[in-house]
Amino acid sequence: MKAIKTLLAGALLAAFSLTTHVSAADKGLIGISMPTKSSTRWISDGDSMVKEFTSLGYATDLQYAEDDIPNQLAQIENMVTKGAKVLVIAAIDGTTLSDILQKAHDKGVKVFAYDRLIRNSGNVDYYATFDNFQVGVLQANSLLQGLGINKGKTGPFNIELFGGSPDDNNAFFFYDGAMSVLQPLIDKKQLVVQSNQMGMKTVGTLRWDGAVAQARMDNLLSAFYSNKRVDAVLSPYDGLSRGIISSLKGVGYGTASQPMPIISGQDAELPSVKGILSGEQYSTVFKDTRVLAKTTAAMVDAAMSGKQVQINDTKTYNNGVKIVPSNLLVPVAADKSNIKDMMISSGYYKAEQLN
Ligand code: BGC
Repeated sequence: MKAIKTLLAGALLAAFSLTTHVSAADKGLIGISMPTKSSTRWISDGDSMVKEFTSLGYATDLQYAEDDIPNQLAQIENMVTKGAKVLVIAAIDGTTLSDILQKAHDKGVKVFAYDRLIRNSGNVDYYATFDNFQVGVLQANSLLQGLGINKGKTGPFNIELFGGSPDDNNAFFFYDGAMSVLQPLIDKKQLVVQSNQMGMKTVGTLRWDGAVAQARMDNLLSAFYSNKRVDAVLSPYDGLSRGIISSLKGVGYGTASQPMPIISGQDAELPSVKGILSGEQYSTVFKDTRVLAKTTAAMVDAAMSGKQVQINDTKTYNNGVKIVPSNLLVPVAADKSNIKDMMISSGYYKAEQLN
C-alpha cells in the first residue's frame, strides 16, 4: 500500500512538473541580444535575465555579439525567425538596428532597449536603464572628493577627460553629466585640462576599448605631462580605467612619491573593485545588473499580459524618432570607504572574491 502511495505521489509530481514546464514554454520566446562578453557586466545581465524570464514562464534565446555589428544584426534576425515575441536588446551601435526592428515590428514583436538606447527607430517600445546623466555626475563628484576640492583644497589640479563609445548614446549622457560638475571648475581654472582635449568628438573611446584608452593616455602623458603631474582622470568605465592605470604605471605613477591620480570608473567590475581596495583606482559607479534584469523582465511581462508597464520617465530619451518611455534605476557611487560592504551585503560578490 505504502509502495503504491509512493508510486502515485511520484506520478503526480511528474505530471505536475510536466505541466508547469509546458505552461512555461507557453508564454513565448524572449530574444536577448547582448553586446559582448568582454565586460563581465553583460554576462551578469544576460544570466540574470535568463533566470528572471524563466521564472516568469518564458523561454529565452540569449546571444552575445562580441562587439561585431553584423553579428548582432544576424543574431536578432535569427531570433525573429525563430518566433521571438519580444526582443530585449543592448545595442553595440544604437543606430544600426532600424531595418531589422521594422521587420520585427511588422511581425508584432515588442522591442525593449536594455541599458543602451536604440536610436533612429520608431519601433522601440520601452527603455530600461539607469539614470545615465547621474552616473556622470557621480563620477565627477568622486573626482572632486578624491582631490579634496569638497574639503576646501583649491588646486589648480590637472585633469584629463575620457569618454565612452561615440556609438553608444549612454556615453554622451555620462560625459554631459560629468561636465555639468567639472565645467564650472574648468572655467574657474581650478581644474586644468593641459591637453585641452575636450568634447565627446575628441575624448570618445570607440567600443569602450581599454587598449584604446591606454594608448591615448600614453600619448597624453608624453605630450603634456613630461614635467607636470596629472592629478585626476575622468574615466566613464572600469575597463577604460584599467587601461589608463596601466599607462600611468608605465611612467612611474602608483608609488609613494608619485601616487596614482584620482580615477573614476563604472560597473564595479571585479578587477576594478580590487583596484579600488588597493588604492589604484579611486571610485566606480555600481549599477546592480540583477535589478535591471528583474525590472526589465517585469516590464516585458506586464506588456505581454496587457498590464500597465512601469516607467518613470517620459521626456529624457528622444531616440531621434520618438521619446522612448523609460524606467530609470538609481546608480550608486562607490569608493574605498564603502565598496566592500556594498558588494558583499548586496551579494554582488562573495567576500572571498575580494581578497
Ligand atoms: C553601459 C555601461 C558600460 C559601458 C561599456 C554602457 O552602455 O551603460 O555600464 O560601462 O556601456 O560596456
